[in-house]
Amino acid sequence: MKNVKAYSAASATAPLASDTIQRREPTETDVSIEILFCGICHSDLHTARNEWGGTVYPVVPGHEIVGRVAAVGSAVGKFKEGDLVGVGCMVDSDRTCPNCREGLEQFCPNGTLTYGSPDKHTGGVTYGGYSESIVVDERFVLRVPENLDLAGVAPLLCAGITTYSPLKHWNVGPGKKVGVVGLGGLGHMAVKFAHAFGAHVVVFTTSPNKKEDALRLGANEVIVSTNPDEMQKHAGSFDFILDAVSADHDINAYINLLTRDGNLTLVGAPEKPLEVAAFPLLMGRRSLSGSPIGGLPETQEMLDFCGERNITADVEVIPVQKINEAYERMLKSNVKYRFSIDMSSLKSE
Ligand code: NAP
Ligand code: ZN
Repeated sequence: MKNVKAYSAASATAPLASDTIQRREPTETDVSIEILFCGICHSDLHTARNEWGGTVYPVVPGHEIVGRVAAVGSAVGKFKEGDLVGVGCMVDSDRTCPNCREGLEQFCPNGTLTYGSPDKHTGGVTYGGYSESIVVDERFVLRVPENLDLAGVAPLLCAGITTYSPLKHWNVGPGKKVGVVGLGGLGHMAVKFAHAFGAHVVVFTTSPNKKEDALRLGANEVIVSTNPDEMQKHAGSFDFILDAVSADHDINAYINLLTRDGNLTLVGAPEKPLEVAAFPLLMGRRSLSGSPIGGLPETQEMLDFCGERNITADVEVIPVQKINEAYERMLKSNVKYRFSIDMSSLKSE
């Protein structure tokens, strides 16, 4: 085992603080990665503060990891020392269930999340990317295109794939009117992808000051969702709406905006259950669904697509010492549009 610097939360109410964790010695199929940047996902905050329940402390969040390969095990074929790589929300799965066999590891009933899952190597729990380095089986390591800004690549590993996957699944493309609710880390990536896929993109935001940015990111229209008149103008017109809101809100208002057979997919995961009225769903044969991250093949496809189209997240780069401030700003919807931690800042701890 190797001692590694990290930032962890010791309880639901404790701020994140400097800590030392242990990483396993690489096995023959492992890749040892020096972490360069790690994005801050709202899921990190939900978990650190135990908003979903079940958090094991201390927790080291972080599942938007980009780094450089420091060493590889003897049986590793895909990577060599010096390669640029990424790690997202998963570090293992059973590899044998029907989901894994289809490359849909996100649905594996025996998956291992990047942080907070039982760690079969150490006997403890897994620790995430708010750390100097990580050791991951090569199967769960992604290739990162060399041409992209690395601070902006990190968020692709969660915010990127979580929005890319449902947009693909629901055939978002030319001729489709698509809504994105919430212009945060996930939302702004959804706008970039839906625009790149050729759809007509409408952003719903509670923050009027994000209007210009939304247009710059690729939206065709922006609606301030607190204005009922603006909302009403779009009733019954959307083929697809992606809801990326992190807190309680009225989803019935959005279901009403769907066309017949339209779909609203939730990627946001608020702490409290959302209320759903029956009639808006019944009357248009509309549907409501959800989507978690994405499997390994699709995550690689998304990264390659971003390399070809020069797509990255818009990031505010921070040193690790600013994490707690960043969490507070994220709660106020005040980040443009993802925090990315420069992990070299850990060296001074
Ligand atoms: P984020 O950057 O904080 O963005 C959330 C956005 O939601 C905010 O920017 C804000 O947008 C809007 N919002 C916040 N509070 C609101 C409220 N009370 N009412 C209406 N709108 C509100 O968060 P994120 O990292 O993108 O994550 C969003 C959610 O997705 C979180 O719950 C996270 O846990 C979840 N998530 C799910 C998956 C998955 O696999 N499905 C993966 C990653 C994250 P405006 O300012 O534009 O209104
Ligand atoms: Zn995430």
